[in-house]
Amino acid sequence: MTHRQADPSDLKADLDRLTAFLSPLDRVVCLTGAGCSLASGIPTYRAENGDWQGRNPINHQDFLEDFETRQRYWARSFIGWPLMHTAQPNPAHRALKDLVAIGLVGTLITQNVDSLHEQAGLTTVQHLHGDLTEVTCLVCGASEPRTQLQTRLAKLNVDLALDGKLQPDGDAEIPSEVIQHFKIADCLLCDGTLKPNVVFFGGQVDPTLVQSIYRSIEQADALWVIGSSLKLFSGYRFCRHAVTFNKPIVLLNPGWTRADPIAALKIGQPAEIILPKLLDRLTNLTQ
Ligand SMILES: [Zn+2]
Repeated sequence: MTHRQADPSDLKADLDRLTAFLSPLDRVVCLTGAGCSLASGIPTYRAENGDWQGRNPINHQDFLEDFETRQRYWARSFIGWPLMHTAQPNPAHRALKDLVAIGLVGTLITQNVDSLHEQAGLTTVQHLHGDLTEVTCLVCGASEPRTQLQTRLAKLNVDLALDGKLQPDGDAEIPSEVIQHFKIADCLLCDGTLKPNVVFFGGQVDPTLVQSIYRSIEQADALWVIGSSLKLFSGYRFCRHAVTFNKPIVLLNPGWTRADPIAALKIGQPAEIILPKLLDRLTNLTQ
């Protein structure tokens, strides 16, 4: 679990600025990234691209064409799944649910592949990079819950010293001799190749979804990005779109973001600390 701190004096000033910026607005489009799930114990390097690799991201085409790439993905996913599966929403997710409820956030898009916004009670979350709850057969299109697949993988690999409880840190790689022996599971209906419903590097974000987000931005008062460095173009493009339509961008992220130079407001606070306070301020204002 990650516990981030905020300087109390900065926090007060930042809260004032964020409240002043958002309170006159009717409706904003919100894009959340890995920083939003950090306090739930999901490391950002894993969550941001929808895979577990950190330094060696899985390439979409390699996953389709190369058995060893799929073996590497599933071995790592098998080990990382329990952490993802047991993660709980944090105060940022809960505050965002209420910011949707009071109408400030009209559309919520996430780059995260976890389901923590849904677990916090949101029903209409748009997953830019897909999510990990199901896998799909690339041959017949059948889908299977990821939890069920985990059980099958565990049975197939009962002889390997992998019980799914290991959690390699950023520097720990699974030894290649272990990956070589990892048995991957195929579609239960047709033995076809299974793929998680996430967008890998080199894969395409659903163009219909991108267009619908563009329309939402055009109709909103602002674009609010929370917990993302926007390093990937898949998220950054929405900032460019906002600029084109003269919609202000507000950023909430403790670190650098690619949109810093074009933002109307940048707040460097952890989402799980400032969002509940912001919610308090905004609900008191409307009462
Ligand atoms: Zn199939």
